[in-house]
Amino acid sequence: MNTITRFLKSLLLLELAKGAAVTLRYFFQPKFTVHYPEEKTPKSNRFRGLHALRRYPNGEERCIACKLCEAVCPALAITIDSTQREDGTRRTTRYEIDLFKCIFCGLCEESCPVDSIVLTDVAEYYFEDPSEQTMTKDKLLAVGDRYEESIAANRRQDAAYR
Ligand code: SF4
Ligand code: SF4
Repeated sequence: MNTITRFLKSLLLLELAKGAAVTLRYFFQPKFTVHYPEEKTPKSNRFRGLHALRRYPNGEERCIACKLCEAVCPALAITIDSTQREDGTRRTTRYEIDLFKCIFCGLCEESCPVDSIVLTDVAEYYFEDPSEQTMTKDKLLAVGDRYEESIAANRRQDAAYR
């Protein structure tokens, strides 16, 4: 019986007709295609993109070299060296994130007591050289300086949800 049904179905091209019907139905429906990069899909304010180190409004870096982010990182992607300054405060002399190791879990951001290391909503970046995967302190601070306005806005929005 099954064989006869299959034979009749293939003879009458029923599967092809079903496929054509689906194509025809979706042909006249609204399209979901996004013409990237001219068009972009909305992002959550909790999107975890490129890392940044933030400063206070007076230009002082927020990071106090407590190394909590380094300790909590499950991918061992963060490397920190630190020193004590003449005024007794601690600051990092080296702060690096290996983006090839990072799994963008956001734990570093959550562990930071001074809101220094953050994951921005920057999703469009690339490397031309494999050595560029290491985000150095200077690079992280530069990202923070560049996107501080949107980082602060996301923080305010996030706080409003809590
Ligand atoms: S996002 Fe996660 S994996 Fe990446 S550096 Fe932070 S803690 Fe480590
Ligand atoms: S970024 Fe935050 S958690 Fe990491 S060492 Fe600096 S102050 Fe501590």
